[in-house]
Amino acid sequence: MSLDIDGLLDFDRDHLWHPYTSTTRPLPVYPAASAEGTRIRLMDGRELIDGMSSWWCAIHGYSHPTLVRALAEQAGRMAHVMFGGLTHEPAVALSRLLVELAPAPLDKVFFCDSGSVSVEVALKMALQYQQAVGCPEKYRLVALRGGYHGDTFHAMSVCDPVTGMHTLFERSLPHQFFAPRPECRFDAAWDENDLAAMGRLLADHHHEIAAVIVEPIIQGAGGMWFYHPEYLRGLRRLCDQHRVLLIFDEVATGFGRTGTMFAADHAGVAPDIMCLGKAITGGTMTLAATLATTAVATAISEAEPGVFMHGPTFMGNPLACAVACASTRLLLDSPWQERVAAIGNQLRVELEPARGLDTVADVRVLGAIGVIETTRPVNMAVLQKFFVEQGVWIRPFGRLIYLMPPYVVAPEELSRLTGAAVRAAAMAA
Ligand SMILES: *Cc1c(COP(=O)(O)O)cnc(C)c1O
Repeated sequence: MSLDIDGLLDFDRDHLWHPYTSTTRPLPVYPAASAEGTRIRLMDGRELIDGMSSWWCAIHGYSHPTLVRALAEQAGRMAHVMFGGLTHEPAVALSRLLVELAPAPLDKVFFCDSGSVSVEVALKMALQYQQAVGCPEKYRLVALRGGYHGDTFHAMSVCDPVTGMHTLFERSLPHQFFAPRPECRFDAAWDENDLAAMGRLLADHHHEIAAVIVEPIIQGAGGMWFYHPEYLRGLRRLCDQHRVLLIFDEVATGFGRTGTMFAADHAGVAPDIMCLGKAITGGTMTLAATLATTAVATAISEAEPGVFMHGPTFMGNPLACAVACASTRLLLDSPWQERVAAIGNQLRVELEPARGLDTVADVRVLGAIGVIETTRPVNMAVLQKFFVEQGVWIRPFGRLIYLMPPYVVAPEELSRLTGAAVRAAAMAA
């Protein structure tokens, strides 16, 4: 059966839910037919330069032959087997890579299906750990305002209470502690006061706190905010002092996007538990991993019930692990640091004109991420149409027009993206 474009869009409108949308008043969607390199081709033949990497994922661009081959070969061998009682080369090879790359001493790997689930797993690890070490009363969590950690319930409970719409789920959502968003910018002079509120929170409540969870350096979906590495060093000291675990959610920031392999590397700090996802498979399919230290894993394993209580059906899926290995090796074999730095430099120069606009509150760049923050919420439908007409794929939200292109974006393509973003910012009144 093949549908014409109108038939496809009609059925979509009548039956499909898209992310964060209404079924009765959905915003328009654009039908994609194929994607290759930095281009997304629509069914009507138009080609768009990708400025989003499909939400942090497609770091090598689309349909990369190395990744397609890895998928096809693994699909021919073994698409999936259960991970209970069986293991396989793709999972072992990937965990070896992750342990090598992740900050020491993270050396235990738990595979799961998506970023949100990796956060659930991390939080469960923290809670089981505190029970295991004889502190069952340490069961609450601390998160940062402006954070985003996913859409499942416990992950949602540590998202920003306002943008995460906690009021909607008031009755079923666990209540956590929130510290203010770090205000000290990534490249500004460090101000010790930035940690004061977190310090007080931990001093007052450490006896009931299991863990602090943060997105290191970059808060993504909660506001595209970049903060100072010293915050993480101070936070590590505070957590140690109060016997609270530190969880880094690197689902968005992992695999080079911020200029270092992991955002934690900017601070030289290792968490006790770390979540990875999004770019882990180079944008080909869903996979996530939660890494823990031997200390955390051993404590959980040595206490009742002697196991970590989680085990997704598709845990360690061989297809996903094989393509994640291929993607990670492709990254390591590429000059990714130079590419990310070059994208950052070009973003800095070409987004700068937006700073002068009276519709613009801030312009900031870190790694291969460029952000124009507008003074008022953008009209997503209007800007989305504008971008498609300009031949680029950029998806603004709230007061943010942002770019995070595949690392292989060409300078001319990036100029098309930045040009469109700056013009859109001028329209954002
Ligand atoms: C996207 C994201 C998640 C959730 O990942 P999903 O794969 O969408 O479930 C969690 N944490 C951060 C920091 C993210 O950016």
